Amino acid sequence: MQAWDTEEFPVITSARGTTLVDADGNRYIDGNASLWCNVHGHRHPVIDAALKRQLGRAAHTTLLGLCHPGAIDLAERLAAIAPRGLDHVFFSDSGSEALEVALKMVFQYWRQRGSRRDTFITFGGAYHGDTLGAVSAGAISLFHGLFKPLLFPTVQVPCPYSPRDPVGAARKSLAALKRALFRRKQDVAAVVLEPVVQGAAGILPQLPGFVRAVRDLCSEAGTLLIADEVAVGFGRTGRMFACEHDGVTPDLLALGKGITAGYLPLSATLATADIYQSFLAPWHRMKQFFHGHTFAGNPLACAAALASLEVFRRERTLANLPAKIALFEKRLARFRQRPHVADVRSRGLMGAVELEASPGRAYPPEKRMGHRVILECRKRGLILRPLGDAIVLMPALAMDMRTTHRMFDVVEESLDAGTRGGR
Ligand SMILES: *Cc1c(COP(=O)(O)O)cnc(C)c1O
Repeated sequence: MQAWDTEEFPVITSARGTTLVDADGNRYIDGNASLWCNVHGHRHPVIDAALKRQLGRAAHTTLLGLCHPGAIDLAERLAAIAPRGLDHVFFSDSGSEALEVALKMVFQYWRQRGSRRDTFITFGGAYHGDTLGAVSAGAISLFHGLFKPLLFPTVQVPCPYSPRDPVGAARKSLAALKRALFRRKQDVAAVVLEPVVQGAAGILPQLPGFVRAVRDLCSEAGTLLIADEVAVGFGRTGRMFACEHDGVTPDLLALGKGITAGYLPLSATLATADIYQSFLAPWHRMKQFFHGHTFAGNPLACAAALASLEVFRRERTLANLPAKIALFEKRLARFRQRPHVADVRSRGLMGAVELEASPGRAYPPEKRMGHRVILECRKRGLILRPLGDAIVLMPALAMDMRTTHRMFDVVEESLDAGTRGGR
């Protein structure tokens, strides 16, 4: 906060496509997709028009006891495109809430099935949001350590990624998961996983087959799998949903960030028929889910989300991704040859370049090397946001090839400028 008080920072007054413009008229490439959520670019005509149409009808009406066409259509569309079997949709406003809903739903589901299962298994490096339930399921001690006394206990298994030995890390993580699942067979309510990539931990990719292995272990142990696709959903990893890479259907799927193409706050928790049915009973038996946010399923947000799916179709967004991902990976790979680079990793259009002072030695935190490098980027017309000393690259799926090249050119120059004499 002290640094923020004294530093200069751009005040963004407008945006178009993948360009941000600040109050002084400076233009920047939006290299972090406005915190990982912009999909088709800013001020997309199709989404803008859908929002204007909806404004002519109603900005907000409640989903508590009423409904509106946008929520109905969007729930149907999400169920249609999600991994098979996720037929029921619960709306809320943020990714964190989508996780809160999943955790509470799972807890109540087991109670209603006459079981006392209440233990959640999470992975080292997990991030599921900043509200207390989501923080309980998370495992980044920098974000979460202080709040420990306020959290419910979970069982944590090792992070499935390590820069030096990804295969060994995945194997260790799965072995620990298996032990935890079978040692506590009657206790485990669910396993919570960011499938394919752990985002906030520093863009940590999982090996192909990892999500499938977790799914199979959950099924074998008779417990549920919550997939947190808040960051990886809506095309980010190259498929509409990350679970598709391994052909996996989780029991609950949390969606947020890209759901409205980065226009408005909205999230969704999708569930299977089995979970849905456990909440059905005559009213007086009180099996309903007592959870409802004021703005859940807001009509403007639903209109943006539906328009975004329309843009996916019209612009063949997913079909255009392989070429973009190939370029992204090619440019990322060039960092491997550079000094001060400890690790380069990516899946789809999410990537990170981890910096180090010298081979095997991290920069001291007070250097704020990641921050220094992104300030150099900013001078050269690119907005990024680092995770510690990992420089994160997260373009909107719509970013064109020319802009992508420019983004990488700027990062290369900024890395040299930022790390010069920086050890
Ligand atoms: C961003 C994120 C969240 C939290 O979403 P908010 O909308 O910020 O509450 C949860 N899980 C993952 C994996 C995320 O990346």
